[in-house]
Amino acid sequence: MRKLILLLLIFMGFAYENADITSNKNQVSNTYLERVEPPNWWIDFKDTSLQLLVKENNIGASKPSISYKGVRIEKVHSAKSNNYLFIDLVIDKNTKSGKFDILFSFEDGKTKTHTYELKDRQKSPEKYVGFNSSDAIYLITPDRFSNGIESNDINQNLNEKTINRKDNYARHGGDIKGITNNINYIADLGFTTVWPCPVLTNDMFSGSYHGYAITDFYEVDSRFGTLSEYKELANELDKKGMKLIMDQVANHCGIEHWWMKDFPFEDWVNNQKYYEENKENWNHKTVKVSNHRRTTNQDSYASKSDRNGNNEGWFVDTMPDLNQRNPFMANYIIQNSIWWIETLGLGGIRQDTYPYSDKQFMSNWAGAIMNEYPNFSIVGEEWSYNPLLIGYWQKGAKNKDGYESNLRSTMDFAMQNNIISAFNENETWDTGLVKIYEGLANDFHYVTPKDILIFGDNHDMSRIFTQLKGDIINTKMALSYLLMLPRIPQIYYGTEILMNDFEKPGDHGLIRTDFPGGWNGDIVNAFTGVGLTDAQKDMQLFIKKVLNFRRKSEAIHEGETLHFAPENGTYFLFRSKNDETIVHIINKNDKPISIDLNRFKEVGLQGKTLKNILTDEKILWNKTLELSKKGSIILTTKF
Ligand code: CA
Repeated sequence: MRKLILLLLIFMGFAYENADITSNKNQVSNTYLERVEPPNWWIDFKDTSLQLLVKENNIGASKPSISYKGVRIEKVHSAKSNNYLFIDLVIDKNTKSGKFDILFSFEDGKTKTHTYELKDRQKSPEKYVGFNSSDAIYLITPDRFSNGIESNDINQNLNEKTINRKDNYARHGGDIKGITNNINYIADLGFTTVWPCPVLTNDMFSGSYHGYAITDFYEVDSRFGTLSEYKELANELDKKGMKLIMDQVANHCGIEHWWMKDFPFEDWVNNQKYYEENKENWNHKTVKVSNHRRTTNQDSYASKSDRNGNNEGWFVDTMPDLNQRNPFMANYIIQNSIWWIETLGLGGIRQDTYPYSDKQFMSNWAGAIMNEYPNFSIVGEEWSYNPLLIGYWQKGAKNKDGYESNLRSTMDFAMQNNIISAFNENETWDTGLVKIYEGLANDFHYVTPKDILIFGDNHDMSRIFTQLKGDIINTKMALSYLLMLPRIPQIYYGTEILMNDFEKPGDHGLIRTDFPGGWNGDIVNAFTGVGLTDAQKDMQLFIKKVLNFRRKSEAIHEGETLHFAPENGTYFLFRSKNDETIVHIINKNDKPISIDLNRFKEVGLQGKTLKNILTDEKILWNKTLELSKKGSIILTTKF
């Protein structure tokens, strides 16, 4: 049919409109329309509905039709802009995979066609197993980790046209290939999961390196690579039994997003009217930014004004706030997430700025994903030190307002903060190690503590080595402790070589420093060890030993937890499952100290021999334990 039309058009001397394929070049090879999104779909989803966004000059004046067994158009929605159509499809169960044409007929008899593809799913839904407490996550800022392909560093068709490694806020050239090239390094350290910050197109005039100002939700940023390189990363990780987490942003887009020039509806983004009235002088105007009053999501006394101020304000004035209460926007975001899970075979999603989005939408979003992928994992970012809020967002929480998030994992900023305090503070009744002892006691509030993400730092906060004032022993104690907790641990790239931001503590550009050895000509190479100091090599080895031990320890993954109140600058944590018991000891004393083991007799270790996993030394657990120096000790009964 399409061939016939094509021949007819050529014969009649008509040129096909939009024959140059400018959009979605990574994904679709044969579109003749500006955009059809999602660019493809799959058969055999539980949810048989699919809503296509079609963007093309005057497409609103057309009538779409499809002739393909099992696929029918349920409803066609025109938009405020005549350059959009939203088409509701139903894909019946047992529909066969394949390609079909969507025919757009105009009143004057003209037509346009778009070939759409329904693919077979690569694996069964249960096989999309999300990250969990058996995993350890390596968080990477892709622009700053490794430059695998120098020829993709600059794209003259995009707004930010330079790279400059001397400028911490410019692009440095790191990319997806750089991560793929170094999977062995990451795996050898003992990590099982990689979370790169977003790699989708950020066609912004500046600051595009961080990835959180997405301007095309279906396109890999060419400076990070191609869709096939993203797939290659996912496949190479999968081959090693590792997981890939995609960092997604449902709350906002970048101001250079293509739809900011032609909104489908009046309420596509929040504060849209103000933007449309002032966009010509945008640099001189200030949109209503979020008041960041995130507690309004839970506060029973919160005013509507404060609540809307949090949820509807823009994150910053270059990141428009998406209106997820618009049902077409809601569908767009949900389908986009599923498209990426299915395309890459993801092992999880990290969702940015969770409490800034419409919370009912976020529940629907997570629910839709978990409905299709029952074993999947999503972690939502809420930067709160309040365990009540951390618990509120987790699936199954008995919330007073009845809210069900459908979210498996939340982030433990509270415990992160406690860990830092525990080592920076002196020991008194209410300072020092008591902070982690009492912090962990808050687990009574969480539905599933082991599904919560713990970390020493991340790409938005001062590096742990800086937060702990350059104290190597304290840093080791903090890291080994968080790796023993009933949690999913995440470590930021470069922690293993003591990367820091002492020069300008908290500066985002500096926190995201280049990983040495990631660029041709780097004098220091942390991948090979060349040029590292003894202290860096020592930390690298420490992380490697603890992580590789953790990887095989079911007691750490899902064992019982028991801890004893800190005494005399020491704190004991036990994790046990079946015949395996792990003892994690924190000792802040510079001078030797003798510990009376009678205190721990309920653990049942008397007379057993344990192995120190860092020194391989054997210890008889009897009456006393002599701790000779400051530091952490990890003992196991299973060796
Ligand atoms: Ca590059």
